Amino acid sequence: MTYLRADNIKQATELIDANPTFPLLHGGSDLALKIKSGSIEGIIDISHLKELEYIKKDGEILEIGALTSINTILNDKKVIQHFPLLTEACQNFASHQIRNIASLAGNIANDSPVADLIAPLLVLRAEVILVSIKGTRTLPIHELFQGFKQLNLNRELISSFKIPLLEHNYYYRKVGPRANLNISKVSLAMVHNRDGYFLSGASVNPFVMRFRHSEELLNSKVFSKDLLKNALAKDIAPSGSFRSTKEYRSSVLLNMILEALESFKE
Ligand SMILES: Cc1cc2nc3c(=O)[nH]c(=O)nc-3n(C[C@H](O)[C@H](O)[C@H](O)COP(=O)(O)OP(=O)(O)OC[C@H]3O[C@@H](n4cnc5c(N)ncnc54)[C@H](O)[C@@H]3O)c2cc1C
Repeated sequence: MTYLRADNIKQATELIDANPTFPLLHGGSDLALKIKSGSIEGIIDISHLKELEYIKKDGEILEIGALTSINTILNDKKVIQHFPLLTEACQNFASHQIRNIASLAGNIANDSPVADLIAPLLVLRAEVILVSIKGTRTLPIHELFQGFKQLNLNRELISSFKIPLLEHNYYYRKVGPRANLNISKVSLAMVHNRDGYFLSGASVNPFVMRFRHSEELLNSKVFSKDLLKNALAKDIAPSGSFRSTKEYRSSVLLNMILEALESFKE
């Protein structure tokens, strides 16, 4: 296997352009398994790009560098103050050791249907900043995900995430078999702000996405539990597995949305 190391962003973009099939290595907590299986021809090590590890508030935006670790986000006072939803999602993420090495971009770019941090960024309507040898591109984060393990990346590196600072109510819950080192059976991230309701969750679709039909219903004037159940059925396609049945995932998710709506009234 070929090992390439980038020492700065420019070098990283050049290496990515010249080797578009090589995955990027940061913490390696997802990539390690693939490397071990011998299925990878080469990697580009970006773990030395310390300039992509930061959290800063800039006007009405909180910007998180792509390679910031989950523990750094979990303990950051600005995140705790403005985005407790993200803090809670990080609290429920893996173990202390994994949170120390795992990066935000790694979680997003691995694009797993069970990834914990995609849903919070979707409902907070983050933007993702991409860099390549051609320059910089900004996308609303939902445009990054185009299908199962299909990312809208064209020889690009994720360099940061920008989250707008808007007053909001939130709800977050990850349901799994135990308290720590937990792969979710189902999770819900939900936000209500001046623009309406935003909902997403893990483990109910081939890739994590917003629940657009449910959002539309909640933002309309007409609401009932049956209408929500029907809307949600259009938003999710949960698989049944040894972890949970489809019916379990669907009914727990519906109950969580109802619980969130109640909590927003308080
Ligand atoms: C024991 C264990 C427990 C775990 N528990 C959880 C959990 O509770 N919740 C959860 O969601 N995940 C969990 N994970 C998965 C994993 O830890 C996360 O997805 C982590 O955030 C990946 O980050 P990383 O820096 O290690 O990524 P890496 O493994 O280094 O890379 C992952 C992928 O992201 C791509 N990538 C990395 N950085 C960039 C970038 N800047 N731009 C573009 N692409 C990039 C790489 O090419 C690769 O495909 C767990 C893993 C382990 C081993």
